[in-house]
Amino acid sequence: MTAKWEEQAEHMVTEQIVARGVRNPRVLLAIRKTPRHLFVPEPYRDESWSDYPLPIGYGQTISQPFIVAYMTELLDLPPRARVLEIGTGSGYQAAVLAHLADEVHTIERIPELAEHARHVLRLLDLDHVHVHVGDGSQGLPEFAPYDGILVAAAAPKAPPALLEQLAPGGKLVLPVGDRGFQHLERWTRQPDGGFRRETKDAVAFVPLIGEDGWPAS
Ligand code: SAH
Repeated sequence: MTAKWEEQAEHMVTEQIVARGVRNPRVLLAIRKTPRHLFVPEPYRDESWSDYPLPIGYGQTISQPFIVAYMTELLDLPPRARVLEIGTGSGYQAAVLAHLADEVHTIERIPELAEHARHVLRLLDLDHVHVHVGDGSQGLPEFAPYDGILVAAAAPKAPPALLEQLAPGGKLVLPVGDRGFQHLERWTRQPDGGFRRETKDAVAFVPLIGEDGWPAS
């Protein structure tokens, strides 16, 4: 790697993230503070700061940096938040969330990915990130309610269990659509217990596999 990683992070934030309209200073700082290259497997490490997703094994990917920043901004977390991420993958998104929340739970269905993410997060001393293994389409009721839930895999529709696990004012951000093409949705729990849904940009995520996702094959 040529430039120091902090310089590469700075360049990525300016050229890919601010340039596309993400402006929340707390989000931009969280991205700057997160060493993305540590979450990218060796053969792709030189491309860590590039403007696209990268393979992390098991047919999965680490999301494009802009998408991580944009979804984090959409979560609009309050101070001292408790957050749930579905689809730990490399652990990068969870590490970014760790700079914005007091408690981060992240759940991954592939045990080997969860174990690797745990290792990198421990290396960074992010002890308030808890990695779980299981079907995140059912959320994680043990630690609910959450101020924010971010789903890093594409669902056919917003899973009811995730909506139920939102705190009042809490937000669920997820890609909804078919297995190849989706739109980001943001659901906000209203004071009367109902939900407001907003539809955002077109995206392409790997599928959410599980009871309220897609079948495994
Ligand atoms: N947030 C990740 C990117 C994840 S890619 C990162 O920053 O690297 C999506 C991940 O969701 C994959 O690792 C996939 O195995 C996982 N996944 C798919 N369906 C799931 C489910 N029902 N529960 C938990 N994880 C799931």
